[in-house]
Amino acid sequence: MLNFYLLTKKKISRNVTINLHIKKKNSTFARFIICNFMKKLFIFVCMFWLAMGLQAGEHWLKGYKKVLVVGAHPDDPETMCGGTMLKLKSLGAEVVSVYLTSGEAGIPGKSHEEARAIRQVEAKNACEVMGVRSIFMTQIDGNAEVDKSRYAEMKSIIEIEKPDMVITHWPIDSHRDHRVCSILVYDAWRQTGYSFDLYYGEVMAGLQTQNFSPTLWVDITEHHDKKVEAYRCHLSQGMDEIQQWHDPMEVLRGMECHAKCGEAFIKQNY
Ligand SMILES: [Zn+2]
Repeated sequence: MLNFYLLTKKKISRNVTINLHIKKKNSTFARFIICNFMKKLFIFVCMFWLAMGLQAGEHWLKGYKKVLVVGAHPDDPETMCGGTMLKLKSLGAEVVSVYLTSGEAGIPGKSHEEARAIRQVEAKNACEVMGVRSIFMTQIDGNAEVDKSRYAEMKSIIEIEKPDMVITHWPIDSHRDHRVCSILVYDAWRQTGYSFDLYYGEVMAGLQTQNFSPTLWVDITEHHDKKVEAYRCHLSQGMDEIQQWHDPMEVLRGMECHAKCGEAFIKQNY
């Protein structure tokens, strides 16, 4: 009986030891798996965070196939968002610069016809530098109109070109033509059943664009020099003054998106 008791105790003790050993082994294995998983998760989160950080503020530009930038005058698309146009192109989008007027009133001493010819050549040169196409609408600089036929004209451009993104002037602006341009594009957006995403940009902030509080930014540092080269094709406009306005704007917008140079936008809500 005693032998049986001792044998049983020994057996139980042995089983407990084996069980403990197995549990310990299992526990070590589980810890190893969890640690490895946590390590991999940590590396994945870090890489994801880094990738998102590098693209901060610009993920909204991706996926667009065709972009129209509609400006009231030659030089408006380029100064407003030349860097973003170049970035969109680098992301694979087709970009078109649309000019509501041809700057007919923009060269002192020249007739409307003479100025139109000069400024269209300058705009085409600017577009060539950026590698984008140009479209000239039929409105007259300083006399842009909003009426039924002008609404139809803008809608027609949208229906022909079929963009999925359009950038134009912010509607609060000291220049009447800029306001007209903005409202025509906004109307086309509504009349085509919101067929594209509509964004507003700024030109000569404070002097022209006003009350503009952007919600989207683009780092244009790598495209800044090309942007300047493009808008300086508008030789008749004495671009020194315009550059003096836009350089600090780009520095400010760059600071806001942690970049050397930036451009900023507001998206129209549905
Ligand atoms: Zn303008």
